Amino acid sequence: MAEKRAVKVAIVGAGMSGLCMAAKMQDAGIETFTIFEQADEVGGTWRDNTYPGLHCDVPSRFYSYTFRSNPEWSRLLPPGNEVQSYFTQIATERGIRTHIRFGTPVTSAVFREGKWWISTAGGSEPFDVLITATGILRVPRYPDIPGLNEFAGPMFHSSRWDHSVSLQDKRIGLIGTGSTGVQITAELGGKVRGLTIFQRTAQWVFPFPNPRYSPITKAALRRVPVLSRLGYRFWQTVYENFFAKAMVRPGLRRRLVSAMCRWNLNFSVRDPRLRRKLTPDYQAMCKRIIAAGHYYQSVQKPGVDVVVDPIDHIAPTGVVTADGTLHEVDLLVIATGFDAHAYARPMEIIGENGVSLDEAWTDGPQAYRSVAVPGFPNMFMLMGPHSPIGQQSLVIIAENQADYAMWWIERIRDGAIDAASPTETATKEYNEQMKSAMPQTVWTTGCNSWYLDKHGVPELFPWEPARHRRLLASPEPSDFDVQPAQA
Ligand code: NAP
Repeated sequence: MAEKRAVKVAIVGAGMSGLCMAAKMQDAGIETFTIFEQADEVGGTWRDNTYPGLHCDVPSRFYSYTFRSNPEWSRLLPPGNEVQSYFTQIATERGIRTHIRFGTPVTSAVFREGKWWISTAGGSEPFDVLITATGILRVPRYPDIPGLNEFAGPMFHSSRWDHSVSLQDKRIGLIGTGSTGVQITAELGGKVRGLTIFQRTAQWVFPFPNPRYSPITKAALRRVPVLSRLGYRFWQTVYENFFAKAMVRPGLRRRLVSAMCRWNLNFSVRDPRLRRKLTPDYQAMCKRIIAAGHYYQSVQKPGVDVVVDPIDHIAPTGVVTADGTLHEVDLLVIATGFDAHAYARPMEIIGENGVSLDEAWTDGPQAYRSVAVPGFPNMFMLMGPHSPIGQQSLVIIAENQADYAMWWIERIRDGAIDAASPTETATKEYNEQMKSAMPQTVWTTGCNSWYLDKHGVPELFPWEPARHRRLLASPEPSDFDVQPAQA
């Protein structure tokens, strides 16, 4: 029997996935891990996003780790600050914080002589395994609109909300009507002096009420933990058997989602002019579906205006549309989304033979089963390319990917292997299979969205989430170049 080694693991990022990886390692009895976090708190996207109306669009019971239920969720769809406290609490109660180096961005990770050399401003240090847990919606995307920097009033991206700016007395201009723009509108519509929404493309909105959990429900959940697990299973079943199936293949479910979105619009918006403005010209779910309870009600409140003329430029006092109208506003909110294809970048990752990840990905991001990349031994990505992020809760994806990484980490710890990376052939085959399954999905039915890569192919998983889970539950060593442990 080989002796167990102290395997050193570097995790980049202390958001939902990084914390998940840390917890899985603790559960396996491994404490020799370090989390590098560029900010001064855990939480990732839930730390960065604090805009009014922020809540998760996945039910709280299902947006929880399987190893840590939370009877205290206040609503079906949890507010952003509760999600953030859920993660901060877990980091504290599990003692993960002692492993985190806050305020420490990783500048590069280089694989040299069998180790990952992680560089920060403080120097360079070797690790056996590199886990990238850098999230998906991390890098804000600013629109390329002429004059944007000429605006005289306050202006910020939705993920960099400036809470020192008062809102009630302002005429707010909101650029963008994705999930973020919709949630901001639902919260602020009718509560501020004016809200002008600049909509480039209308969105389908799936009616999703967001009831509160009563004190009795919470007390029951506290006393009977199995109820939380049942709630998790219930929502997992709904997502996997309804929404996910509707997304990955045509059929009755897809038509049903479309019908519900159309009904929601027709029922909620009676004014035909406004309804026309809000009617999309593509299939529901082609872009990420928006789950909202009272967006259409808020859009119809006094002081709210939806502008569909394209933006021509930004003037110091407002937004000028192509018809020449100046829409005067006091505050400009940029809700134009994120660069979803950055992955761990701008951190530089250099694998075997000095090949960088950018070089390996000249044709676009590709991974083996969403977690590993040929030529980058002992590197595992959480939320890597083609993770099933369109049709599944990101929390369960992170858990499945972290379990997969653990399978390999345990082999290194047990002294069975030194390093492993997927073969080019297995990775190519896997990506070709995915590509050929894409036309069945709703994401290719003709719309523009952050799901698409530079070739217009969805950077998503084209099958049901259960298949992703199965692929990760049974690692195939024959798909890997494995370096046995040196004696
Ligand atoms: P998004 O979905 O990418 O939406 C960006 C919006 O900005 C779109 O309406 C887009 O219009 C518009 N836009 C972009 N560039 C523009 C320009 N130059 N001029 C005018 N409009 C422009 O971004 P997001 O709303 O921040 O949401 C991103 C993702 O974050 C969501 O899909 C979701 O996965 C996640 N999210 C989740 C939650 C949650 O509850 N869990 C909440 C918020 C966000 P086009 O449609 O024409 O491109």
